[in-house]
Amino acid sequence: MIVVLAPEATESQIEEVTTRLSRAGLSVHRSSGRDRTVLGVVGDASGLDPDDLGRLPGVRDVVRVEVPFRLASRQFEPTNTVVRVGSATIGESRIALIAGPCAVESEAQIMAIAEAVAAAGATVLRGGAFKPRTSPYTFQGLGEEGLRLMRRAADRVGLAVVTEALDIAHLPLVERYADMVQVGSRNMQNFPLLRAVGRSRMPVLLKRGMSATIEEWLLAAEHVLVEGNRQVALCERGIRTFEPYTRNTLDLSCVPVVQALSHLPVVVDPSHAVGLRDKVPAMARAAVAAGADGLMIEVHPQPEQAFSDGAQSVSFPELEGLVRACRKVAGAVGRVL
Ligand code: PEP
Ligand code: MN
Repeated sequence: MIVVLAPEATESQIEEVTTRLSRAGLSVHRSSGRDRTVLGVVGDASGLDPDDLGRLPGVRDVVRVEVPFRLASRQFEPTNTVVRVGSATIGESRIALIAGPCAVESEAQIMAIAEAVAAAGATVLRGGAFKPRTSPYTFQGLGEEGLRLMRRAADRVGLAVVTEALDIAHLPLVERYADMVQVGSRNMQNFPLLRAVGRSRMPVLLKRGMSATIEEWLLAAEHVLVEGNRQVALCERGIRTFEPYTRNTLDLSCVPVVQALSHLPVVVDPSHAVGLRDKVPAMARAAVAAGADGLMIEVHPQPEQAFSDGAQSVSFPELEGLVRACRKVAGAVGRVL
Protein backbone atom coordinates (compact mmCIF):
# COMPACT_ATOMS: atom_id res chain seq x y z
CA MET A 1 0.00 0.00 0.00
CA ILE A 2 1.18 3.52 -0.78
CA VAL A 3 -0.16 6.62 0.94
CA VAL A 4 0.15 9.74 -1.20
CA LEU A 5 0.07 12.93 0.83
CA ALA A 6 -1.43 16.20 -0.34
CA PRO A 7 1.18 18.78 -1.41
CA GLU A 8 -0.02 21.06 1.41
CA ALA A 9 0.14 18.32 4.10
CA THR A 10 1.90 19.55 7.23
CA GLU A 11 4.65 17.67 9.07
CA SER A 12 2.33 16.97 11.99
CA GLN A 13 -0.30 15.50 9.65
CA ILE A 14 2.36 13.28 8.06
CA GLU A 15 3.49 12.29 11.55
CA GLU A 16 -0.08 11.38 12.50
CA VAL A 17 -0.49 9.12 9.45
CA THR A 18 2.90 7.50 10.09
CA THR A 19 2.02 6.82 13.74
CA ARG A 20 -1.32 5.28 12.73
CA LEU A 21 0.45 2.91 10.31
CA SER A 22 3.22 2.02 12.75
CA ARG A 23 0.67 1.24 15.45
CA ALA A 24 -0.92 -1.24 13.05
CA GLY A 25 2.45 -3.07 13.00
CA LEU A 26 3.46 -1.78 9.56
CA SER A 27 6.81 -0.31 8.59
CA VAL A 28 6.70 3.02 6.83
CA HIS A 29 9.21 4.22 4.24
CA ARG A 30 8.97 7.88 3.44
CA SER A 31 9.91 9.42 0.13
CA SER A 32 9.77 13.20 -0.10
CA GLY A 33 10.09 14.41 -3.66
CA ARG A 34 9.95 17.95 -5.02
CA ASP A 35 6.22 17.78 -5.65
CA ARG A 36 4.88 15.28 -3.17
CA THR A 37 5.54 13.03 -0.22
CA VAL A 38 4.54 9.38 -0.31
CA LEU A 39 4.65 6.72 2.37
CA GLY A 40 5.47 3.19 1.27
CA VAL A 41 3.78 0.80 3.66
CA VAL A 42 5.40 -2.59 4.15
CA GLY A 43 3.73 -5.44 6.04
CA ASP A 44 0.29 -7.00 6.21
CA ALA A 45 -2.10 -4.08 5.75
CA SER A 46 -5.22 -6.24 5.46
CA GLY A 47 -6.48 -5.02 8.87
CA LEU A 48 -6.48 -1.38 7.72
CA ASP A 49 -9.37 0.21 5.87
CA PRO A 50 -7.93 2.31 3.02
CA ASP A 51 -11.04 4.53 3.12
CA ASP A 52 -10.38 5.36 6.79
CA LEU A 53 -6.78 6.22 5.97
CA GLY A 54 -7.89 8.28 2.98
CA ARG A 55 -10.01 10.46 5.25
CA LEU A 56 -7.11 11.47 7.49
CA PRO A 57 -6.12 15.13 7.13
CA GLY A 58 -3.26 15.60 4.67
CA VAL A 59 -3.88 12.36 2.76
CA ARG A 60 -4.50 12.73 -0.98
CA ASP A 61 -4.76 9.08 -2.00
CA VAL A 62 -4.29 5.51 -0.80
CA VAL A 63 -3.08 3.21 -3.56
CA ARG A 64 -2.98 -0.56 -3.42
CA VAL A 65 0.19 -1.60 -5.23
CA GLU A 66 -0.51 -4.13 -7.96
CA VAL A 67 3.08 -5.37 -8.16
CA PRO A 68 4.71 -7.45 -5.40
CA PHE A 69 7.59 -4.99 -4.93
CA ARG A 70 6.77 -1.65 -3.31
CA LEU A 71 9.79 0.55 -2.65
CA ALA A 72 11.22 -0.36 -6.06
CA SER A 73 7.97 0.55 -7.81
CA ARG A 74 7.25 3.67 -9.83
CA GLN A 75 4.08 4.11 -7.80
CA PHE A 76 6.19 4.63 -4.68
CA GLU A 77 8.72 6.87 -6.41
CA PRO A 78 7.75 8.40 -9.76
CA THR A 79 11.03 10.32 -10.11
CA ASN A 80 14.03 8.40 -11.48
CA THR A 81 16.58 7.50 -8.82
CA VAL A 82 20.05 8.87 -9.39
CA VAL A 83 22.70 6.63 -7.87
CA ARG A 84 25.84 8.48 -6.72
CA VAL A 85 29.09 6.55 -6.97
CA GLY A 86 31.95 8.73 -5.71
CA SER A 87 31.78 11.70 -8.07
CA ALA A 88 30.01 9.67 -10.78
CA THR A 89 26.25 9.26 -11.22
CA ILE A 90 24.02 6.57 -12.73
CA GLY A 91 20.51 7.57 -13.77
CA GLU A 92 20.98 11.04 -15.18
CA SER A 93 20.77 11.95 -18.87
CA ARG A 94 24.49 11.22 -19.17
CA ILE A 95 24.92 7.47 -19.65
CA ALA A 96 27.42 6.09 -17.14
CA LEU A 97 30.34 4.14 -18.59
CA ILE A 98 31.63 1.54 -16.15
CA ALA A 99 34.66 -0.25 -17.56
CA GLY A 100 37.60 -2.34 -16.43
CA PRO A 101 38.95 -5.85 -16.31
CA CYS A 102 37.05 -8.93 -15.28
CA ALA A 103 39.61 -9.34 -12.50
CA VAL A 104 42.43 -7.22 -11.11
CA GLU A 105 45.57 -9.20 -12.07
CA SER A 106 48.55 -6.96 -11.30
CA GLU A 107 49.52 -3.37 -10.58
CA ALA A 108 50.68 -2.78 -14.16
CA GLN A 109 47.48 -4.25 -15.60
CA ILE A 110 45.04 -2.21 -13.50
CA MET A 111 47.05 1.02 -13.85
CA ALA A 112 47.07 0.72 -17.65
CA ILE A 113 43.37 -0.13 -17.74
CA ALA A 114 42.39 2.73 -15.44
CA GLU A 115 44.18 5.21 -17.70
CA ALA A 116 42.66 3.78 -20.87
CA VAL A 117 39.08 3.65 -19.61
CA ALA A 118 39.29 7.16 -18.14
CA ALA A 119 40.57 8.42 -21.51
CA ALA A 120 37.66 6.65 -23.23
CA GLY A 121 35.13 8.49 -21.04
CA ALA A 122 34.46 6.04 -18.20
CA THR A 123 33.58 7.46 -14.80
CA VAL A 124 33.66 4.17 -12.86
CA LEU A 125 36.40 1.52 -12.85
CA ARG A 126 35.18 -2.06 -12.47
CA GLY A 127 37.30 -5.04 -11.49
CA GLY A 128 36.95 -8.17 -9.44
CA ALA A 129 39.10 -8.97 -6.42
CA PHE A 130 36.80 -11.75 -5.20
CA LYS A 131 35.78 -13.70 -8.29
CA PRO A 132 32.76 -15.99 -8.51
CA ARG A 133 34.36 -18.64 -10.73
CA THR A 134 32.46 -21.67 -11.96
CA SER A 135 35.54 -23.84 -11.45
CA PRO A 136 37.52 -23.84 -8.18
CA TYR A 137 40.68 -24.51 -10.23
CA THR A 138 40.67 -21.17 -12.08
CA PHE A 139 41.92 -17.75 -10.88
CA GLN A 140 39.86 -16.68 -7.86
CA GLY A 141 41.07 -13.05 -7.58
CA LEU A 142 43.74 -11.18 -5.60
CA GLY A 143 41.50 -10.40 -2.61
CA GLU A 144 42.42 -7.34 -0.55
CA GLU A 145 45.58 -6.72 -2.57
CA GLY A 146 43.39 -6.42 -5.69
CA LEU A 147 41.15 -3.89 -3.97
CA ARG A 148 44.15 -1.83 -2.87
CA LEU A 149 45.63 -1.80 -6.38
CA MET A 150 42.30 -0.86 -7.95
CA ARG A 151 41.75 2.02 -5.51
CA ARG A 152 45.22 3.40 -6.27
CA ALA A 153 44.71 3.12 -10.02
CA ALA A 154 41.27 4.76 -9.86
CA ASP A 155 42.50 7.62 -7.67
CA ARG A 156 45.33 8.34 -10.07
CA VAL A 157 42.92 9.11 -12.89
CA GLY A 158 39.86 10.29 -10.92
CA LEU A 159 37.56 7.28 -11.31
CA ALA A 160 35.10 5.75 -8.85
CA VAL A 161 35.39 2.02 -8.08
CA VAL A 162 32.83 -0.80 -8.21
CA THR A 163 33.71 -4.32 -7.15
CA GLU A 164 31.90 -7.48 -6.18
CA ALA A 165 31.40 -8.80 -2.67
CA LEU A 166 30.79 -12.54 -2.86
CA ASP A 167 29.97 -12.83 0.79
CA ILE A 168 28.87 -10.71 3.76
CA ALA A 169 32.38 -11.18 5.16
CA HIS A 170 33.79 -9.18 2.20
CA LEU A 171 31.67 -6.09 2.86
CA PRO A 172 33.97 -4.27 5.32
CA LEU A 173 36.89 -4.60 2.87
CA VAL A 174 34.80 -3.53 -0.11
CA GLU A 175 33.55 -0.57 1.90
CA ARG A 176 37.11 0.43 2.75
CA TYR A 177 38.39 0.46 -0.85
CA ALA A 178 35.42 0.86 -3.21
CA ASP A 179 32.64 3.36 -3.87
CA MET A 180 29.99 0.84 -4.92
CA VAL A 181 29.40 -2.82 -4.13
CA GLN A 182 28.38 -5.26 -6.84
CA VAL A 183 26.08 -8.17 -6.05
CA GLY A 184 26.76 -10.67 -8.81
CA SER A 185 24.38 -12.74 -10.85
CA ARG A 186 25.04 -15.86 -8.79
CA ASN A 187 24.18 -13.99 -5.59
CA MET A 188 21.05 -12.18 -6.76
CA GLN A 189 18.93 -14.23 -4.40
CA ASN A 190 21.44 -14.46 -1.57
CA PHE A 191 18.99 -12.79 0.78
CA PRO A 192 21.32 -12.38 3.79
CA LEU A 193 23.85 -10.64 1.50
CA LEU A 194 21.13 -8.39 0.03
CA ARG A 195 19.98 -7.47 3.53
CA ALA A 196 23.56 -6.72 4.61
CA VAL A 197 24.24 -4.42 1.63
CA GLY A 198 20.88 -2.82 2.39
CA ARG A 199 22.17 -1.95 5.86
CA SER A 200 25.43 -0.57 4.49
CA ARG A 201 25.77 2.96 3.18
CA MET A 202 27.36 1.90 -0.10
CA PRO A 203 25.53 2.23 -3.43
CA VAL A 204 24.72 -1.18 -4.88
CA LEU A 205 24.97 -2.59 -8.40
CA LEU A 206 22.57 -5.52 -8.45
CA LYS A 207 23.13 -7.89 -11.35
CA ARG A 208 20.24 -9.92 -12.68
CA GLY A 209 20.39 -13.60 -11.82
CA MET A 210 21.09 -15.69 -14.90
CA SER A 211 17.71 -17.42 -14.57
CA ALA A 212 15.80 -14.66 -12.82
CA THR A 213 12.60 -13.09 -14.05
CA ILE A 214 12.31 -9.31 -13.97
CA GLU A 215 9.94 -9.62 -11.01
CA GLU A 216 12.41 -11.77 -9.03
CA TRP A 217 15.15 -9.24 -9.82
CA LEU A 218 13.05 -6.29 -8.60
CA LEU A 219 12.11 -8.24 -5.48
CA ALA A 220 15.83 -8.82 -4.86
CA ALA A 221 16.28 -5.02 -5.09
CA GLU A 222 13.38 -4.68 -2.65
CA HIS A 223 15.38 -6.67 -0.04
CA VAL A 224 18.09 -3.98 -0.25
CA LEU A 225 15.65 -1.04 -0.27
CA VAL A 226 13.60 -2.28 2.66
CA GLU A 227 16.73 -2.14 4.84
CA GLY A 228 17.01 1.58 4.12
CA ASN A 229 19.55 1.72 1.27
CA ARG A 230 17.88 3.50 -1.66
CA GLN A 231 21.02 3.71 -3.81
CA VAL A 232 20.44 0.69 -6.03
CA ALA A 233 21.26 0.38 -9.74
CA LEU A 234 20.17 -2.74 -11.62
CA CYS A 235 22.40 -4.48 -14.16
CA GLU A 236 21.18 -6.74 -16.97
CA ARG A 237 23.96 -9.19 -17.89
CA GLY A 238 22.19 -11.76 -20.03
CA ILE A 239 19.98 -14.66 -19.10
CA ARG A 240 20.20 -18.39 -19.84
CA THR A 241 18.18 -19.48 -22.83
CA PHE A 242 18.37 -22.42 -25.24
CA GLU A 243 20.77 -20.49 -27.52
CA PRO A 244 24.37 -21.70 -27.09
CA TYR A 245 26.12 -19.47 -29.64
CA THR A 246 26.37 -16.57 -27.20
CA ARG A 247 27.33 -17.10 -23.56
CA ASN A 248 23.93 -15.80 -22.43
CA THR A 249 21.08 -14.02 -24.19
CA LEU A 250 20.99 -10.26 -23.64
CA ASP A 251 17.43 -9.40 -22.65
CA LEU A 252 17.29 -5.82 -23.85
CA SER A 253 13.53 -5.71 -23.53
CA CYS A 254 14.08 -5.60 -19.78
CA VAL A 255 15.32 -2.01 -20.10
CA PRO A 256 12.00 -0.37 -21.06
CA VAL A 257 10.08 -2.93 -18.95
CA VAL A 258 12.04 -2.14 -15.78
CA GLN A 259 11.97 1.59 -16.50
CA ALA A 260 8.18 1.45 -16.64
CA LEU A 261 7.89 -0.63 -13.43
CA SER A 262 10.64 0.98 -11.38
CA HIS A 263 12.47 4.24 -10.67
CA LEU A 264 15.82 2.45 -10.33
CA PRO A 265 18.42 3.00 -13.09
CA VAL A 266 19.30 0.10 -15.41
CA VAL A 267 22.86 -0.63 -16.52
CA VAL A 268 23.54 -3.11 -19.33
CA ASP A 269 26.58 -5.40 -19.34
CA PRO A 270 26.91 -6.73 -22.90
CA SER A 271 30.26 -8.40 -22.07
CA HIS A 272 28.91 -11.14 -19.79
CA ALA A 273 25.76 -11.33 -21.91
CA VAL A 274 27.31 -12.26 -25.26
CA GLY A 275 30.70 -13.55 -24.09
CA LEU A 276 32.22 -12.79 -27.51
CA ARG A 277 34.46 -9.73 -27.90
CA ASP A 278 33.46 -8.92 -31.46
CA LYS A 279 29.74 -8.90 -30.56
CA VAL A 280 30.09 -6.56 -27.56
CA PRO A 281 30.09 -3.23 -29.50
CA ALA A 282 26.87 -4.02 -31.38
CA MET A 283 25.04 -4.94 -28.20
CA ALA A 284 26.42 -1.88 -26.39
CA ARG A 285 24.97 0.31 -29.16
CA ALA A 286 21.68 -1.55 -28.92
CA ALA A 287 21.61 -1.07 -25.13
CA VAL A 288 22.05 2.68 -25.53
CA ALA A 289 19.29 2.74 -28.15
CA ALA A 290 17.01 0.82 -25.74
CA GLY A 291 17.49 3.51 -23.09
CA ALA A 292 20.13 2.01 -20.76
CA ASP A 293 21.31 4.36 -18.01
CA GLY A 294 24.77 2.84 -18.02
CA LEU A 295 27.08 0.39 -19.77
CA MET A 296 29.43 -2.05 -18.08
CA ILE A 297 32.24 -3.20 -20.38
CA GLU A 298 35.10 -5.62 -19.69
CA VAL A 299 38.44 -4.35 -20.99
CA HIS A 300 41.93 -5.85 -21.08
CA PRO A 301 45.20 -4.64 -22.65
CA GLN A 302 45.84 -8.16 -24.02
CA PRO A 303 42.48 -9.95 -23.94
CA GLU A 304 43.93 -13.28 -25.04
CA GLN A 305 46.17 -13.28 -21.97
CA ALA A 306 43.47 -12.31 -19.43
CA PHE A 307 43.23 -14.55 -16.33
CA SER A 308 39.43 -14.62 -16.76
CA ASP A 309 36.83 -13.71 -19.37
CA GLY A 310 39.41 -12.88 -22.05
CA ALA A 311 37.08 -14.01 -24.83
CA GLN A 312 34.64 -11.22 -24.05
CA SER A 313 37.09 -8.49 -23.03
CA VAL A 314 37.67 -5.71 -25.55
CA SER A 315 41.09 -4.15 -26.20
CA PHE A 316 41.77 -0.43 -25.62
CA PRO A 317 41.27 0.55 -29.28
CA GLU A 318 38.09 -1.54 -29.40
CA LEU A 319 36.76 0.28 -26.33
CA GLU A 320 37.48 3.62 -27.98
CA GLY A 321 35.60 2.59 -31.12
CA LEU A 322 32.69 1.24 -29.07
CA VAL A 323 32.34 4.50 -27.15
CA ARG A 324 32.56 6.60 -30.33
CA ALA A 325 29.70 4.66 -31.92
CA CYS A 326 27.62 4.62 -28.73
CA ARG A 327 27.94 8.41 -28.47
CA LYS A 328 26.21 8.77 -31.83
CA VAL A 329 23.38 6.48 -30.73
CA ALA A 330 23.11 8.34 -27.40
CA GLY A 331 22.67 11.60 -29.32
CA ALA A 332 19.93 10.04 -31.42
CA VAL A 333 17.93 9.05 -28.32
CA GLY A 334 18.41 12.32 -26.44
CA ARG A 335 21.19 11.17 -24.11
CA VAL A 336 24.90 11.88 -23.80
CA LEU A 337 27.78 9.54 -23.12
C1 PEP B 1 31.35 -9.70 -13.05
O1 PEP B 1 30.78 -8.67 -13.43
O2 PEP B 1 32.53 -9.72 -12.71
C2 PEP B 1 30.60 -10.97 -13.02
C3 PEP B 1 31.11 -12.06 -12.46
O3 PEP B 1 29.40 -10.90 -13.61
P1 PEP B 1 28.07 -11.79 -13.40
O4 PEP B 1 27.79 -11.80 -11.93
O5 PEP B 1 27.08 -11.02 -14.20
O6 PEP B 1 28.36 -13.15 -13.97
MN1 MN C 1 33.91 -11.28 -16.00
